[in-house]
Amino acid sequence: MRKRKVAVLGATGTVGQRFIGLLQGHPWFEIAALTTSDAKVGKRYGDVTPWHWGTDMPAEIADMTLLPTRADLDAEICFSALPSDAAEVWETALAEAGHHVFSNVKTHRMDADVPLMVAEVNPEHMHALDAQRRARRWTGSIVTNGNCSAIGFVLAAAPLQRRFGIERAVVTTMQALSGAGYPGVASLDALDNVVPFIAEEEEKLEQESKKFLGRWDGKRFVDADFAFSAHCNRVSVRDGHTETVSLALRGSPSVDEVKTALREFRGRPQELDLPTAPKRPIHVREERDRPQPMLDRDTERGMAATVGRVRADPVLGVKFVVLTHNTIRGAAGASVLNAELLAAEGCLGS
Ligand code: NAP
Repeated sequence: MRKRKVAVLGATGTVGQRFIGLLQGHPWFEIAALTTSDAKVGKRYGDVTPWHWGTDMPAEIADMTLLPTRADLDAEICFSALPSDAAEVWETALAEAGHHVFSNVKTHRMDADVPLMVAEVNPEHMHALDAQRRARRWTGSIVTNGNCSAIGFVLAAAPLQRRFGIERAVVTTMQALSGAGYPGVASLDALDNVVPFIAEEEEKLEQESKKFLGRWDGKRFVDADFAFSAHCNRVSVRDGHTETVSLALRGSPSVDEVKTALREFRGRPQELDLPTAPKRPIHVREERDRPQPMLDRDTERGMAATVGRVRADPVLGVKFVVLTHNTIRGAAGASVLNAELLAAEGCLGS
């Protein structure tokens, strides 16, 4: 496959930096543009970016000059890690100008013609792009990935929805500080604390999960139909969202049947052996005290979900814990995998 030029929009932020890490040495994509807010335009990336990771900032990235986000970027694919107000202005303008936008931002996730995709969970939603391009007269496109806690939940829920069907779900999240971007939650609010509120998060988790687990019927998205209650909490963890999940499944499968469905789950990215795809999207652990963010968030380079403590739930039927790396699987890695899938399936032109 030829190398496609890509831009990272919001390249100095938490998710933007993850994109840069994941795109280093990518076999299909090469970074051609990095965008920033107006205050840093024209500056050298390395001079104005507080790099958050233990590995060194790549030298060729450090030397790049930051560009404004504009519709005439010289890049076929734009990975968006913009704040939502900037995304509102620029994502549609870029798609109209022929770019393929893969977004982490909430702005277009629930649009009637915009796929909200996790590549393993609902790849068939990509067919909505025909309707999107026709209705909006775009040569480009917008594909979104979900809120970071919704991605974790649907990765674990998808194989169970497929094999059994979900009737009811109750999810409680313990979400990492990096989910709020940089610098995020003030240290004096975060340390020694749990904050039992994240603005709009419970609504996003409930609504997006039903779109993810629903279907594209050729004309519109049809939401999955199940009762869903979410509690979202911010905890003093750097990276990795932990979620406790209780489910009522059709046919009341046994704990072993649930574990088997989770273990056997594979999707289109695994069939196609895409560059960023984990070999196994879900790792099921048997230890009584796993998953833990510190130990499990980097499983398969942060692209796999780890599920543990699968057991009977006396109220709903089955319960477990799922952990995903919020800035990789829950954000930048999910976008890169969506772009790889659409490129491999011929949806981005030759
Ligand atoms: P962040 O750390 O605050 O980074 C956002 C960056 O955007 C800032 O560094 C800002 O930096 C830059 N920016 C502002 N206006 C811009 C413009 N017009 N053009 C280009 N860049 C601009 O936030 P984040 O956590 O990376 O989140 C980015 C987006 O991803 C948000 O919409 C967020 O909701 C979403 N998201 C985040 C996560 C997560 O786990 N963090 C997960 C899923 C989705 P400069 O001033 O340096 O340009």
